[in-house]
Amino acid sequence: MKLDPINWSVISSAATARRERRASEFVEAQMAFAAPKKLLAALRDIMAGEAVPDAKLSEIIDLVARELRGDVCACFIMRPGEMLELFSARGLPVEQLRQVKIHVGEGPIGDTAATMLPLVQPDLLDLAQYTPRAETGNGQFRALAAVPIVRGGRVHGVLALQNRLPRPYGDEVVEIMQTVAMVLAELIVAGGLVARQEIHAGYASGKKPTHIEGVSLGRGLAIGTAVMYEPSLTMENIVADNSKEQKMRLRQAVAAMHAAIDGMLSKSRALSGTESHDILEAYQMFAKDRGWMKRIEAAIEKGLSAEAAVASVQNDTRVRMAQMPDRYIRERLQDLEDLSNRLLSHLMRQSRIFQPEEQPEKIILIARSMGPAALLDYDHKKLQGVILEKGSHSNHVAIVARALGVPVVGQCADIFAVVANGDPVIIDGDRGDVYIRPSQYVSDLYSKSIEERASRTQLLRRQVQRQVTTKDGLDISVQMNAGLMSEIDGLALSGADGVGLFRTELAFMGWQKYPLVVKQAELYSSILDRLEGKPVVFRTLDIGGDKPLPYFKAPQEDNPALGWRAVRIGMDRPAVLRTQFRAFILAAKGRSLKIMLPFVTEVAEVDRARTLLDMELRRAETNGVTVPEKIELGVMLEVPALLWQLDTLLPRVDFVSVGTNDLMQYLFAADRGNHAIRNRYDALSPAMLKVLAMIADKCAAADKPVSVCGEMAGQPLEAMVLVALGYRTLSMSPQSIEAIKVMVPSIDTAVFKPYLASLMDSREHSLRERLLSFARDHNVTITQED
Ligand code: PEP
Ligand code: MG
Repeated sequence: MKLDPINWSVISSAATARRERRASEFVEAQMAFAAPKKLLAALRDIMAGEAVPDAKLSEIIDLVARELRGDVCACFIMRPGEMLELFSARGLPVEQLRQVKIHVGEGPIGDTAATMLPLVQPDLLDLAQYTPRAETGNGQFRALAAVPIVRGGRVHGVLALQNRLPRPYGDEVVEIMQTVAMVLAELIVAGGLVARQEIHAGYASGKKPTHIEGVSLGRGLAIGTAVMYEPSLTMENIVADNSKEQKMRLRQAVAAMHAAIDGMLSKSRALSGTESHDILEAYQMFAKDRGWMKRIEAAIEKGLSAEAAVASVQNDTRVRMAQMPDRYIRERLQDLEDLSNRLLSHLMRQSRIFQPEEQPEKIILIARSMGPAALLDYDHKKLQGVILEKGSHSNHVAIVARALGVPVVGQCADIFAVVANGDPVIIDGDRGDVYIRPSQYVSDLYSKSIEERASRTQLLRRQVQRQVTTKDGLDISVQMNAGLMSEIDGLALSGADGVGLFRTELAFMGWQKYPLVVKQAELYSSILDRLEGKPVVFRTLDIGGDKPLPYFKAPQEDNPALGWRAVRIGMDRPAVLRTQFRAFILAAKGRSLKIMLPFVTEVAEVDRARTLLDMELRRAETNGVTVPEKIELGVMLEVPALLWQLDTLLPRVDFVSVGTNDLMQYLFAADRGNHAIRNRYDALSPAMLKVLAMIADKCAAADKPVSVCGEMAGQPLEAMVLVALGYRTLSMSPQSIEAIKVMVPSIDTAVFKPYLASLMDSREHSLRERLLSFARDHNVTITQED
């Protein structure tokens, strides 16, 4: 199927004819806004002024009434319960302010909000069913033009203009009103007019309670307020007087957008000759449409900033789209809508996504997908839970969320269709359930359960502080995985005996630019201080794959999980590894250090890393920096190729830690982030257990300490097996520590080992059921089981 490009001339000529007809009928109306630039300049001055939001709003309303020659200009703002309240008006009795309230969908003002489209009624008396309404002057005013105040796809209010006599309001009046509405949207969202939580309350609020069954990706219960993770961009400047500069910005953003779309298309070469490819080609063609660009440039000429010009043409396109009789063209214009959003994101790349003061007290974050660093944009104390439309257990965002101690539910398809910002939400991370706008009954039930849990946790916290030993006397060190300072702060409470894995890349993701050595050293040093002698293993940067750094240029890869990541980057860019080693040495201030290399694939990589480390030690000595009393260099075992190099590897390293998340993914060729195959292969399968046994045995023979730091270590049944296989150090998310510390004293490995050995040659897919039966029969305390 070959798609035709949009025939702009058809659309334009229809619009022109309409415009000409109206212009000839009401020349004086066209005169009213002879100087839109003047109005925009005045608007910019008002917004830049010091006045309080209320005063700014009334100045804007005055300005619009005066410049657009309206007998009435009114601004309605959305309040709770989908009610539009008259907030500011010129030409209506003051006693109506804050008193007139209109339901969405009710009358012309309510309709404008419901349809999100401008509405022009040249003469209300022409309407077949016209009922005079208070908000539109009880029939005193015959003409009405209303535009919705929209931001991020949500209606925040309606701006209306009215005249006593019939008036057609030309396209330009509507365009100017739309621009003013954009400014009003920013004013409302900036706060000060209505309560912040109202700004977040959306259309879906007020709908009936909804229950969604997802998949548990992180345990725990929480009640909070829905915050949709849809990075909505803040338009800082709507009006701009330097059109040359704005056009330049536009050109740069357009070039970046074209490059991104071209890249997308070249990746889809495999689709050649298919319908999908044609659609993509048509999309690419729309992106290069001169007509679209000309319209944006014309809007810039009128005094708008580049982003406001794109948004204004987008609004205009939406209106045209609704009016087009041809469904085919309407659908093509949908593509333009999407392109506008793309272009806007290129233009406003710099603007921050979240305003911390806009965040409710208890956030339940709802995302389609998100990078792990995005979670860090939220106040940790406020973040109560994460709900993902997709997502799987070993997604880094889920790992980070668990590390933050918040419940996570994934695989909630259609969640975006039923929830809006501001909706009350309960997240049950134990069962994978989500309740949106829960009934009082469900709310009470969960509130009680959360309270009970909190008091039980206090009790258990005291118990988890002790060291744990198996029934047959093996000391097991239960450590925690961390990546944030806040987790280190929680170490004492968690009961962890140390930090078995510190993911240094998480801090890098939170930083705005590549950190200097001293900045890195500050972080590592405060971690060492806080641990007061307890062990910590710093893992060098594990970036790439699903953990990109915004400021570190990496190539686009078809298969990033198998790509240029982790220690491979350090091999090719030794400065990355060296500066990190330098920071560790500086931070240690003479104390011992444990450094671990992620994603090692061959022994030569360890040798090279050690050479770089030695170079840094010599450099430190030359510069008079106190070197650590001891440095241990270890590797993560997560790439299967290393399994066949253990004999050569072990004499060259000081310790090994098994990263079962990645080891599983590469051993079974099963994407750790793909939920569809997540449970297809089991960590408790003979294959995986044999690999784990082999590693433990070889490490014991070489007298090298070995630990497990993948998610497996934090599951009690899996941990029971790991201990029996010979692992004495397990490192896990802080929330799992309690369950593991409760399990360890209940297992007698002397009894379990022979049974486990008898299962190793089984042909079964998984040994889980048998192991669980053993645990039950021998009173092993398995408190959490997914
Ligand atoms: C692992 O792969 O098991 C691991 C602990 O590393 P990460 O989850 O950070 O990739
Ligand atoms: Mg890994």
